[in-house]
Amino acid sequence: MKIILLGPPGAGKGTQAKSISNRYSIPHISTGDIFRMNISQNTPLGIEAKEHMDKGHLVPDEVTINMVKDRLAQEDCMGGYLLDGFPRTVFQAESLQNFLTERNEKLDTSLLIEVPMEFILERMIGRRGCQSCGASYHIKFNPTKVEGKCDVCGSDIVQRKDDVEETVRERLDVYERQTQPLIDFYKERNLLSTVDGTEAINEVFESICTILGSKK
Ligand code: ADP
Ligand code: AMP
Repeated sequence: MKIILLGPPGAGKGTQAKSISNRYSIPHISTGDIFRMNISQNTPLGIEAKEHMDKGHLVPDEVTINMVKDRLAQEDCMGGYLLDGFPRTVFQAESLQNFLTERNEKLDTSLLIEVPMEFILERMIGRRGCQSCGASYHIKFNPTKVEGKCDVCGSDIVQRKDDVEETVRERLDVYERQTQPLIDFYKERNLLSTVDGTEAINEVFESICTILGSKK
């Protein structure tokens, strides 16, 4: 299966992606995670991406698209994949369509996790992540068993630099201007499914599985 997750930052894409990837045995490709890995390794890509990410802006299309094409051409993507955080602009979406057409492939669906803006700020500001294994938490909605320590590996959990309120507001603005138009892009192509992302994490996952079950 080839699936795209859509929705505002903080909608729960990364949280659901981990479960979907396990259930359907497809790689979870998060452009944000790839950028953050490059930042932690101080690569040229990481140095460029950081400049934009710290301000809450998008990394330029050309850089992002080339990175995703390289990733999708890898062996483990042959049986399908789950894209989280890509595409984020209409130009990225068109590039992905062209990439798929050239390879005689098509998307199964894009899955919009719908969460009204009034929920988003609290979700993003409360988000924490493990700096060693990448497990994700929320101080209120999905807390660790021991405060500040990852349940999986015991390492410290941290807040992302771009999850502070000022940057979050900028990211939401960028989402509304640049990414929200993708909802219509996929709707017009009959490739949009929607789930209510305000439910509890496991309930959202059940709704997603019902939708994906009907696509197989
Ligand atoms: P995204 O990848 O879309 O930016 P995340 O999956 O990182 O969003 O989720 C943002 C925050 O909200 C995380 O701290 C996560 O634990 C929490 N979260 C995710 N889904 C839910 C939900 N259904 N209800 C409450 N909190 C949620
Ligand atoms: P995320 O982890 O999906 O919240 O992404 C974190 C940040 O990485 C975003 O705010 C952008 O700066 C950058 N980023 C991730 N995906 C993309 C993309 N498809 N296009 C441009 N920038 C991106």
